[in-house]
Amino acid sequence: MSVVRRRRTPENSKPVSARPRVLSLMASLLTGRGWLFDLYPIRRGMQVWFLPEDGGPIALWERYAPSFYVRGRAATLSRGLSVLRVPATVTRKERVDVWTGRPVPVFEVRVEDPLRYAGVVARLGRWEDDALELFTCDIPLAQRYCYDRGVFPLAWCEWEATAEGELRTLTVRDDPWAVDYLLPPLRVLELKVEGELVNPRHGHRGRLEVSWDGTTRLLDSDDPASLLESLAGVLRQVDPDVILTQWGDAWLLPSLRQLERRHQVRLPWNRDPQAAIPGRRAHSYLSYGRIVRREASQFLAGRWHLDAQNTFLLTETGLEGLLELARLCRMPVQQLARTSTGTAISSLQLLQAHQDGILIPWHKQQPEQFKTADELLTADKGGLVFVPEPGLYGDVAELDFASLYPAIMAKFNISPETLDCPCCPDHRVPELGRHTCRNRRGLVPQVLEPILAKRARLKRLKQTATDAQARQTYDRRQTALKWILVTSFGYLGYKNFVFGRIEAHEAVTAYSRELLLQAKELAEAAGFRLIHAVVDSIWVHKPHVREREVAALADTISHAIGIPLAVEGIYRWLIFPPSRMHPRLGV
Ligand SMILES: [Zn+2]
Repeated sequence: MSVVRRRRTPENSKPVSARPRVLSLMASLLTGRGWLFDLYPIRRGMQVWFLPEDGGPIALWERYAPSFYVRGRAATLSRGLSVLRVPATVTRKERVDVWTGRPVPVFEVRVEDPLRYAGVVARLGRWEDDALELFTCDIPLAQRYCYDRGVFPLAWCEWEATAEGELRTLTVRDDPWAVDYLLPPLRVLELKVEGELVNPRHGHRGRLEVSWDGTTRLLDSDDPASLLESLAGVLRQVDPDVILTQWGDAWLLPSLRQLERRHQVRLPWNRDPQAAIPGRRAHSYLSYGRIVRREASQFLAGRWHLDAQNTFLLTETGLEGLLELARLCRMPVQQLARTSTGTAISSLQLLQAHQDGILIPWHKQQPEQFKTADELLTADKGGLVFVPEPGLYGDVAELDFASLYPAIMAKFNISPETLDCPCCPDHRVPELGRHTCRNRRGLVPQVLEPILAKRARLKRLKQTATDAQARQTYDRRQTALKWILVTSFGYLGYKNFVFGRIEAHEAVTAYSRELLLQAKELAEAAGFRLIHAVVDSIWVHKPHVREREVAALADTISHAIGIPLAVEGIYRWLIFPPSRMHPRLGV
């Protein structure tokens, strides 16, 4: 992980949770600016941590009463709230029904204490034999705060706060759609068991190795009490923004915490001494007929714990990709690191719905069960595949559509609520007896369109960047977007996802089949022969083919279809083995 390390003097790297640093004094409010670093619910609202442009981290808090919506009888709702004895305010509102697009009357319930929010939702959701219907009630509260306040993790902000640390104004001077932005230099402490990377649960044991700023120390584990002392000393001295571990979630942190209890020592894991951020216990779930184990999570308050062995996004896209998605999807970094790309894209869809005043139906089953986008790809059986005759082929060009399925959803306005609308029966989907709406822009296309555009911009920037570091940053950011785009298709057909609808999924593959057939005809008209196609790639053959002919074909198809097609490679010869889906590339 390559991160710029901030130099901090020991004076200003003390834990600062006791009192916020004063940057300037204006009308008795303290003002400052810096990056929004961490956030989590507390009893009176949200705790928000900032990394100022200079100096150590600052903890501020804001009064925040998160809301949900209820359809049902007023008397039933007020009976429920009075039995639960939860301070809450109830207001009559109008919100939009996702399926009809029409406003409906609802009650908005604001819960004064965010820590009781989930409990209230759980109880009211089952109140008097499900007499109440709840909406927009199961978005994680840090995420929800970002939606409500228009802020996002790693945003560059300006704030005003009281001397007691209560935020009075929070202004974002940043844009989650920006392709170039400054990030805080992060101080990283790495923590692992010395030696080779072997899952410590499988018996490997050794000394504890801590590294920061080019320093590495081995902490002796013969005497557990002094080991804990030494580690506490390092944590205080370094005051890291990020603790990066190997197997920290499943093994290392739980083991150290067990030691702490046994020896009655408390390590300063959290920057916030009051925080009790609960971890998530390990659990198993069923995904495509396989049992998948999700490891426990150890979250910290005011600093991030990232476990290199329990994060798909960090592994695939580096810190640059992870932080790009944290900004864009409004998800705290620690949670995002451990989640699937599907949860990230769904956060953007929930945000769009919430901003449009749409009631988000409550799916009591959480849709976080997808581990990787790979599983989603293998779940797809609907795309058109031209299977090649096995054998050796000469002069073959491979052409790839960029994010074909998401591009189809955006271009043809495919979204669960726009499919088979009452107003546009003639706007037909090929092959299927279905149609999409011309009048109402769908939620899913609204979300995908700017991501596709941003990814295309990042890819161009990557191509034109002159220094290697910038090229890598753009590449990791666009790769992160690629993953959420890939997953958006799987989620569209996933019935447990709030905006999932299998018919919308089928509409996408129907369009993709038609587009591939169109591409095949255009290739043939240009003197090529289509020998293989799978999902979003095609392989075409033409004797003595030249680069510029292939580029011209890509252009023709891109223009005709309206989705960019890029030349992936031209091969002098290529083998398609009899039993394999993918070709073996020649020189
Ligand atoms: Zn319509």
